Amino acid sequence: MAGEQRESCKQPTHSAFGKISTLFPKHTHFDPSEQGMLHFEHEYNHYTITARLAATSGALGCEFLRRMCAVLKISQDHVIYAFSAAMAAVATVESGSTVVFETVDALGGQVTHEGTTLDSLDFSRVNPATGPVAIAGAQPGDALLVEILDIVTADHGVMLAVPNLGILGDRVSTPSTKVVAIGGQTVTFNQWSLPKQPMIGVIGTAPQTGSVPCGTPSDHGGNMDTKDIRAGASIYLPVFQPGGLLAMGDVHAAMADGEVCGAGVECSADITVRVHRVPGFAIQRPLIVTQEAMMAVASAETIEAAAKMALEQIVQFLVDKEHLSFNDAYMLCSLVVDMRISQLVDPLLTVRAVLPQTYLTAPLHL
Ligand code: CA
Ligand code: CA
Repeated sequence: MAGEQRESCKQPTHSAFGKISTLFPKHTHFDPSEQGMLHFEHEYNHYTITARLAATSGALGCEFLRRMCAVLKISQDHVIYAFSAAMAAVATVESGSTVVFETVDALGGQVTHEGTTLDSLDFSRVNPATGPVAIAGAQPGDALLVEILDIVTADHGVMLAVPNLGILGDRVSTPSTKVVAIGGQTVTFNQWSLPKQPMIGVIGTAPQTGSVPCGTPSDHGGNMDTKDIRAGASIYLPVFQPGGLLAMGDVHAAMADGEVCGAGVECSADITVRVHRVPGFAIQRPLIVTQEAMMAVASAETIEAAAKMALEQIVQFLVDKEHLSFNDAYMLCSLVVDMRISQLVDPLLTVRAVLPQTYLTAPLHL
């Protein structure tokens, strides 16, 4: 079917169709003469695979298509505990590839019930990230653009209050753990039903030098614990090493700005991303892009230092790309850029500077 005919077709509204067409935009089309059916076509090893799926196939249909397309899945057997300049890729993909990262929760899946005591934990298994994956051709001075397509969480997560963890950790005398049920739309905490808003706590690339533990955020990304890193958003990450070397983990099914007690609803998840090499887009540190905003994320020992770094990146972007004078860019930021706290509990603190896309003549690509 020709491209323009495809576009004229009425898009079914069923959520499974929406998900399939998000994951495989080039391969799906809808035939108006066959209501409720999705046609799928994929070139693979010189064969054309075609399929017709009913709307009711839902998650099973997605998994079937994912396997048919041989979308690479990085299993949770491949985890790192630090982002290192010298780490080796577990796989290399072409720019534009879709990859599923199977991630383990930040406690390494060790808290399975509320009686789990912290002294029983193996702390060498805390803060795993799955990967890393190299993107063919990515070189220092490029960026990776990671489109976050989907985050499918486990059906439960874990929360904890631990002495000396978080900003009131000095008030916690005995540790406690809580297992939190995660449903389709909500998470259940005590008597409250909260919106489920899965986000990626740890995502990054290999750093410029040395090794950064997965629990620490820095210029390469890492443990930024920023709630806007979620499905539908994209993140630009700097490439410091050949291939970029992308890894991620530490999904939270819910978390507020600050992550005050040191934990969100910590859960395992399958994260589906599409990753692109952006040649010559040299960035110092991560940029998040949503429909509404571009956000510069920075981490430092103090909130003030992190805020300065994040704002400088936005101002410099306005100077370089929008050709504003420094003073005009600085004043504009004072009017339209919100400075938000991402987290206050990791070894470095994270702030994001949020610029509405409407102030860019060329909105940054999602
Ligand atoms: Ca975290
Ligand atoms: Ca976490």
